Amino acid sequence: MELFFATHNQHKLQEAVAIAGASCVVKGIAELGCFEDIPETADSLLGNARQKAEYVHDKYGVNCFSDDTGLEIEALDGRPGVYSARYAGPACSFQDNIRKVMSEMEGVANRKACFKTVVALILDGKEYFFEGCVDGEIITEQRGTAGFGYDPIFRPIGFNKTFAEMDEASKNAISHRGRAMQALTEFLKTYVK
Ligand code: IMP
Repeated sequence: MELFFATHNQHKLQEAVAIAGASCVVKGIAELGCFEDIPETADSLLGNARQKAEYVHDKYGVNCFSDDTGLEIEALDGRPGVYSARYAGPACSFQDNIRKVMSEMEGVANRKACFKTVVALILDGKEYFFEGCVDGEIITEQRGTAGFGYDPIFRPIGFNKTFAEMDEASKNAISHRGRAMQALTEFLKTYVK
């Protein structure tokens, strides 16, 4: 089976190809000639995941999936959450977002946070949703250079390394997107049209 991943984020695409393994061929939407911004204007992870998958499905007529991820920090009442991508402003970088979170967390004792991912799949015209999350904490200074986004400041529970200090396979084995993608691949193994 072949599925297009409705994202322009090459890190996410690489992670998804590795996680899906032999269960399906994950392809990037550049192969469809899709280079435009895909709207994500909903106010929930599920809403955004659905919106991105529907956009690619409706425009290009392919089976596809998308994900939407949020970092939820307990002491910040769940922020940045669904606004994780543009937390520091419209055209901000990953570093801008990290700096904003670090400054809001300065001197805060409760460092608990979790990453949540919702994957929306459109297969043979029907929609399916899968979730994954991982608990951890926001550390006080950046560590590591792998991964992307908030990886250098997120340390998953039970590990001494941040996501940015882990190799891709180790991150995928326990991460929010890894778990949501695992649920998707389990579903695909038993899927009958
Ligand atoms: P998106 O809307 O699903 O692309 O994710 C929103 C934002 O969350 C991204 O721009 C990243 O800053 C962050 N993010 C998503 N996935 C990860 C991850 O695996 N590690 C670190 N940050 C992530």
